[in-house]
Amino acid sequence: MRKFSADLIYTLEGKAIPRGILITDDNGRILNVTEEKVAFDPNIERYKGVIVPGFINAHCHLELSHLHQKIKQKTGLINFIKEVIFTRNSSEKEIIAAMEKQDQAMWDAGIVAVGDISNQTISADLKSKSEIRYHTFIEMLGFDANKAKEILADAIIKKDAFQTPVSITVHAPYSISKELVKQLKDYCKGFDNKITIHNQECDEEDELYKTRSGPFLQFYKDLNINTETFTSQSKSSLQAILPFMPKNQNILLVHNTYTCLKDVYFTKRFEKNIYWCFCPNANLYIEDKLPAYEFFKHSELPITIGTDSLASNHTLSILDEMKILQKNILNLPLNELLKWACINGAKFLGFDADLGSIAVGKKPGLNLLTDLDHGLIGENTKITKLI
Ligand SMILES: [Zn+2]
Repeated sequence: MRKFSADLIYTLEGKAIPRGILITDDNGRILNVTEEKVAFDPNIERYKGVIVPGFINAHCHLELSHLHQKIKQKTGLINFIKEVIFTRNSSEKEIIAAMEKQDQAMWDAGIVAVGDISNQTISADLKSKSEIRYHTFIEMLGFDANKAKEILADAIIKKDAFQTPVSITVHAPYSISKELVKQLKDYCKGFDNKITIHNQECDEEDELYKTRSGPFLQFYKDLNINTETFTSQSKSSLQAILPFMPKNQNILLVHNTYTCLKDVYFTKRFEKNIYWCFCPNANLYIEDKLPAYEFFKHSELPITIGTDSLASNHTLSILDEMKILQKNILNLPLNELLKWACINGAKFLGFDADLGSIAVGKKPGLNLLTDLDHGLIGENTKITKLI
């Protein structure tokens, strides 16, 4: 058994508890959280700072970890994708070594669960052995509607290679056909298949959807990809794609860098389980632009946080993402930001029975945050993994 106390305990089940006592069993399962003040007990580990649940990284691409510091910064999404396509091949040994290193680094940085995009099956073994709980999204890409069935069949084969939670998803509006989304919808009728899609990560995506023009067409020509089956939608990519998404699945919209207020309101028209995901450091790395965060409170949909991959980030650290969010969003209480970093991601991934908040019976992992700036996350805030 272990007993902890700190200046504040953020349970995310209610208000933060000042100098409360938190008791866990030897495996980290919460036995009790109380507001009781105990004057003297040598068995209590007392800390300066705040105790928070383990973090959830809602969006990552572990299999791109070997691309750390290999892709140029701030060149825009299309140039970024081109570079990744031409650089991502590497030896299996190098890819696995980089993934193992980052799996450990995420654990050490207080991350207890990850929603991870996979185009291959190379991460399957690591995920079975890791202390981190992974949900893998097998990602389908294909702009040519004629190939949709073939792409889904291939994804189903890849899915079978994973022993840990896994579902099939689509990459981004600019890399898929409506037919592929329809195939996905038919495929997951009647069972749980969490979906995530990169949304409006660059301005050119809406240009393509609204007017069937812009640099994506040249990009596909260069890659010899058939664009004949794509017609102009006269609306934003989000407005074109969302109506085709299944009703019964959790859907994570990732990045949202160019999502406008009208698009945010559009999401309210649907009774779908939609979550937003912000990956601010990746947005700065690729496009040097952040989403208009103030728009998203109008949707009342839960917000989660992701690191994206090391192709577009310096670290896979949720704390580093929180630093950018705290700095760029006015009047964001720490309790709210922590919900984005913990419980909302756990709910999206279906891990909230155990993770995401400090409650009796859960085993959420515990992080200590120190060097806060007036009670908020600051540039110098540090993390220590307690459990
Ligand atoms: Zn991504």
